Amino acid sequence: MPDKVWRACREVLPKSGLSKRGVDVVDECPLGCSEEESVLHALVGCPLLREFWNKTVIPFTDQFDPKLPFIEWLNCALPEWDAEMLNLFAVCAYNLWHHRNEIRVDSRTMSLDQVWEKSSSLIKELKLILTSSSEALRVQRPPVRWILPPHPFYKLNVDASLQQGIKGGVGCVVRDCSGRVLAALAKRIDHVHDVELLEATAAQDGFSF
Ligand SMILES: [Zn+2]
Repeated sequence: MPDKVWRACREVLPKSGLSKRGVDVVDECPLGCSEEESVLHALVGCPLLREFWNKTVIPFTDQFDPKLPFIEWLNCALPEWDAEMLNLFAVCAYNLWHHRNEIRVDSRTMSLDQVWEKSSSLIKELKLILTSSSEALRVQRPPVRWILPPHPFYKLNVDASLQQGIKGGVGCVVRDCSGRVLAALAKRIDHVHDVELLEATAAQDGFSF
């Protein structure tokens, strides 16, 4: 979609067959309003899009000078919109653009009502994804903290690593209830293929202190 918005800002419209072959013709709006087509017209200004944009309730979509380049109109509209409106505008503009191109190549296409339904359901999906991902962030478990062992116990922590499935290493450390390190060990163990086995070896070493 960013590519389409960029093309729109640069006033790049896919032209009809005649224009492509160098014939100097004015491209009429493919929606059938009989007006000359510009990017602003194709995305916002066409009178046949009025009802569509009224449904979106996005401010400024009914205010434009038809002679303005799209980018200049967008610059005036952006300060009037919040992020939600901008998202909705981008989705609608993309779908309108796609719809307009489909008409250009004479393929069967959906109605403007269907384009609106498609756009609004996409926005609802997007909101749902954003809401659920922010909720997922909120319910993330707090980071794990190391806790001192209660008196008179000792705590043994072990770790193991395996490089390329053959070179292994284990380490363990024993602390008392004040956090003082009583014993520690780190050693290399080769030709081991299972990290869980290595961790078990580290625990065994730790218990032997
Ligand atoms: Zn039109």
